[in-house]
Amino acid sequence: MAADKPILLGIDLGTTNTCVAYVRNKVARVVPSDKGSLILPSVVAVSDKGDLLVGNVAKDQMVVNPRNTIYGAKRLIGRQYNSKVVQDIKHYFSYEIVEGPKGEAAVVLAGKVYSLPQISAFVLQHCKRVAEATLGSEINEAIISVPAYYNDNQRNAVKEAGKLAGFNVKRIVNEPTAAALAYGLNRGFDHKVLVYDLGGGTFDVSVLQLHGNVMEVICTGGDTFLGGVDFDNRIIDFVLEEFRNETKIDLTQSPIAMQRIKNAAEAAKIDLSLLSNVVIELPYVTDRKGKPVDLRIPLSRERVNTLVMDLVERSFQLVEKVLGEKNLNRNEIQEVLLVGGQTRMPLVQGKAHQFFGKPPRKGVHPDESVALGAALLAESMQEIDSVTLVDALSMPIGFAVPGGRFRKVIEKNTQIPAQKSFRLPPTKSGQGLELDIFQGDSDRIIDNEYLGTLKFPAEAAGQRINFILDEECLLRVTIEGNSGEVREVTLATRDTPEALKAAWQEEAERRRLAAERAAPEAQPKGIFASIRKVFGGE
Ligand code: AMP
Repeated sequence: MAADKPILLGIDLGTTNTCVAYVRNKVARVVPSDKGSLILPSVVAVSDKGDLLVGNVAKDQMVVNPRNTIYGAKRLIGRQYNSKVVQDIKHYFSYEIVEGPKGEAAVVLAGKVYSLPQISAFVLQHCKRVAEATLGSEINEAIISVPAYYNDNQRNAVKEAGKLAGFNVKRIVNEPTAAALAYGLNRGFDHKVLVYDLGGGTFDVSVLQLHGNVMEVICTGGDTFLGGVDFDNRIIDFVLEEFRNETKIDLTQSPIAMQRIKNAAEAAKIDLSLLSNVVIELPYVTDRKGKPVDLRIPLSRERVNTLVMDLVERSFQLVEKVLGEKNLNRNEIQEVLLVGGQTRMPLVQGKAHQFFGKPPRKGVHPDESVALGAALLAESMQEIDSVTLVDALSMPIGFAVPGGRFRKVIEKNTQIPAQKSFRLPPTKSGQGLELDIFQGDSDRIIDNEYLGTLKFPAEAAGQRINFILDEECLLRVTIEGNSGEVREVTLATRDTPEALKAAWQEEAERRRLAAERAAPEAQPKGIFASIRKVFGGE
């Protein structure tokens, strides 16, 4: 195939699977591979012989090599090792998660520490090679999608993964926005669509206003910890419990049995989207006194529906919340798009129908629409004015103020690109200034994600600070000097987020005690002793 212009890939880097698409003659297609479409398990492993395995081959050997098989990287990428999220989930993974050189979560593969961007880069590199071989040309550019609910750190980490894989990442795009593009491009719609995206690990909801090829995100929200894996975990817990009741054997200590149950639980869940009843059968799952013990547990669709009902309900509570943020009524939504493999579950489709009082759109392929939309966006970037995407910020960005509170600079649902400015307060003492930047929905910084610290010399007092969000929703900060010169300020990550949050908490406690003792001039301690935190109110 000879290409007249360079091919750009649209890549949906999923928790479970990665899907790759491209556009030729204005039509978006999933890249074909020797096994059908290029939908690749997002799994990386090192075999006993030391070979690096990616995709299906890596997934196939997961049961026998659980410690050296990395899956679910999307849940960890761009997160700090000491963050609550990573600490809470690290026990669910069969491989080792450690602290990387900058305090970030990293993984151990065959005794070597890899960053999460490196792991995702292996998947992306594999996609690049297969796409190049299939399409017959070198491909260097791509658009990669991320959950709308990803914060700045996570977006940067995915961009880094793309670079490590040898791509010039033209843009990071939000998954629901890409799905809406695949649905609405060149179709002349003028209505509101809601994208309900329930994938392997994350849930995203976005409402978009389509005016022809102008697509504007009105509001967005979600949960980076709600997805198919949680559905699987409910089935796994059920199977373990049933087996324990029957045999008095606890399988949780056997990594191989657990991996087999995990695979069987997901397979049963998928089968139950078509069938009403299945039987989970795992011969020789363990042994007792040298004799094999088999596992055989019948499972009905109804039973699974009960096990996961609260998860599905939680997703619709989030839909309700997102609509409420813009005072939208559910009947103002003209079309509901279901995206992500988990939306194939009849329970999810039924609830969507019930909630909106109309059936969700069936025409868009839930596993492929994000990659197709990303590819269409890539194509449109090569042309002028073909599509205008206006995205929105999913979580506020701001900084810490005394008492561990969070002062927002850019509000949630602000349309991007955006710029917000404020002035640094004057200092009395000639000390330097620091601003700790966070992103999240909470009023308390302890619950939000730490993005980094801005450090300013004493002379910066009174100067104007600009928070600039580009179209990829990535943050840049500049400072304007008194004579009008503008300088970019980089976010330093000297303090680990947890040390920082602990210090903020300590400070909040100190203030509380000081107020109690009616001694407001109590001096700051710890990392606050030498430098004045901005807006300290001293
Ligand atoms: P995605 O991240 O979009 O690839 O979604 C992957 C998730 O969808 C995984 O948790 C799968 O188990 C789940 N999934 C895929 N197909 C089905 C199906 N037919 N029924 C229920 N869940 C499915």
